This record gives sequence, C-alpha cells and structure tokens, in this order.
Amino acid sequence: MTQKWKENIIKIKPYKAGEQPKGDGVIKLNANENPYPPAPGVGALLRGVGSDRLRRYPQIDGAELRRALAREYGLDSASVFVSNGSDEVLALAFRGFFNSDKPVLFPSITYSFYPVWCELFGIPFRRVALGPDLRIHPCDYRSENGGVIIANPNAPTGIALDISEIDEIVSANTGSVVIVDEAYVDFGARSSVELISKYENLLIVQTFSKGRSLAGLRLGMAFGSPELISVLDTVKNSFNSYPVDSIASAVGVVSLGEKAYFEMRARQVIATRERVSAALRKMGFSLTDSAANFLFITHADLSAAELLEYLRARGILVRHFSAPETERYLRVSIGTDAEMDGFLSAVSDFLQKGKQ
Ligand code: PMP
Repeated sequence: MTQKWKENIIKIKPYKAGEQPKGDGVIKLNANENPYPPAPGVGALLRGVGSDRLRRYPQIDGAELRRALAREYGLDSASVFVSNGSDEVLALAFRGFFNSDKPVLFPSITYSFYPVWCELFGIPFRRVALGPDLRIHPCDYRSENGGVIIANPNAPTGIALDISEIDEIVSANTGSVVIVDEAYVDFGARSSVELISKYENLLIVQTFSKGRSLAGLRLGMAFGSPELISVLDTVKNSFNSYPVDSIASAVGVVSLGEKAYFEMRARQVIATRERVSAALRKMGFSLTDSAANFLFITHADLSAAELLEYLRARGILVRHFSAPETERYLRVSIGTDAEMDGFLSAVSDFLQKGKQ
C-alpha cells in the first residue's frame, strides 16, 4: 500500500512533561507540583458533589470563577479569562495573538512548551540568549517581533524579574502582544498584574496548579485588557466552548476563598527552598537565585545526568533537560522537608561515592 497519506501528517516534536510514576514510595521532585494538599474546603466540597451536577454543560464562560478571580485580584470580570490549565490558556493565547510574519521572542532557556506551540501553529520564533548569569535582560527585547513571551519567574532557572523590568519590556514592545507567564509567581516573586491597567497589550497568565496544589484539576487563568480577553474567548469558542468543567470551577472558587491557607503553604515551600539551597551550596553546588518552587542546580565535579540516574535508582525523581545549554543542571522541585532530607542525603552519598 502507498505511504503517500503520511505526507500530510503533522511532523512535530511534542513537549515532554515530567514522568508521573505509579505506586508509592517515590520522592517526586520532577514536575514542580506542590507537596501539600489543596485547601481544606476543596476536600469538603468534593465530598459533597452530587453526580447530577454533571448532567448539564458548565457555564460557557466559567462566569462564577471569573467573578471570584476578579474579586480576588481587584479587577473587572471582563479582564479575566479561565481555561483548562495555564498550558491551555497559553496555547489559546499563542493562537490568538501571535499571527505575524515576524518572530515571537522568548529566552533561550525557558519553558520548553513555547517552541512547541510555535511549531504547532506555524509561528516563527527567535530565542533570545540569556546573560552569562542566566538572567533575562530587558534590553535584549527591543528588536522587531511578532510578540514576546517571558516566564516570570523564569523556568527552569527560577530567576524572577522585577516589575520595573517587565514594565521596560512591555513599554519597548507596544506594537505586539507581550505575555508574562506567572506560573511560579506564588513563591515570593511579585506579580505584574497591576501593569494591565497601563498596557492594553499585556497578558498575565497564572495557574491554580502550583501555589494552590491543584495540578490534577487543570485550572489556569489570564488577566488583561477586555480586548485581549475577548480574543481569548473568540479562540476558545472556535475550539472548545466549555474548557472548564463545573466541578473544577466550583473547586477554584473555594480555593480562592482560603487565602490564609494558601499563603501559609507558600511560606512553607519558601522556607524549605532556602534551607535546601543553603545545604546544597555547602556541598559545592552552584544555584540560581530561585523565586520559584524548584531549584536549578549544577556542580563542577559531577555529571548531572549521572546524578539523575543515581537518584532515580533510589526512587527520587528530578528533572534533567538534555539541551547543550542546560545539560549540566538538574531542576529539583521543592517537596516536604522530609522528602528534601531524603534528597539531600542521597546527593551526599553520591558525592562521597565519587571521592572513593
Ligand atoms: N508555565 C510554566 C512556566 C510551567 O512550568 C507550567 C507547568 N509545566 C505551565 C505554564 C503550565 O501549568 P498548568 O498547565 O498546570 O497550569
């Protein structure tokens, strides 16, 4: 049989998410999930959900959740968008906003899904080199472009830009849409949400996955001018009218209401991050200054790929990105204190072994 039909099939290298192992006993530090449970009200709500709720479609625009987010962030509902995880928000945004022949700009080391969406939607892109300090330098985002996307804090470096630096990038790019992906903003960095009243072309994307421990639910949101939000609605309604199911929407509303719990868990993750950072530095590792719920670590005397395998054999999963510019590093999510002690002790054993 002829193979001609294969010519019309998409050829793309997909994004590779962190492995989700089955079974217990694994210390899972490979997907930047929150090690703590969602707010107590979430469990209470889920225990009381009746299945009859599922008979009808959810609200078309996730209106209740949008209103709750608008209240929480002091915005108008028309400036809020919700969808099925921030990955989906970002995919819809790439489709809606990046339609130029000029390249979309993003850092050379950043969330590796950005080039995949560009490939999927046929968007030209250019990677902008980070400084030798692995920092994003706003002055590098002044060339002609069809859009800009910056993760803040950046991933996998964890380094955050100041709001004045985000302002500098947006003010230099009023001719295209600038997206700031704040997936990890809940762990100490400052959000740029307040800039959306200053710039109609700025979209801020956030998620319930990390700070609110709801990665399994798939809830993400965007904040921007009503013009940008209506474009996101147009793209969503040209693809899937009901991305947020009714249970997810109700859980999101409850989770937003439990602010003290959310802040307490974020403080806990930050405290563990700082403790583990200090311990790793003592062992000779170099670390970027992470404002996120993960560390980006390297050690002059050891191979990151070998350490990854050593940890894996001991049931500890971390993430390694094999591109030349990142292959010397491991990205380690912040787990509970006990999990991180297990990680530190395995790393220490590995270093000892190397000395023998
Ligand atoms: N942005 C960045 C930088 C991320 O690392 C992730 C998580 N992989 C996401 C967005 C997407 O998160 P989610 O779809 O769970 O909201």
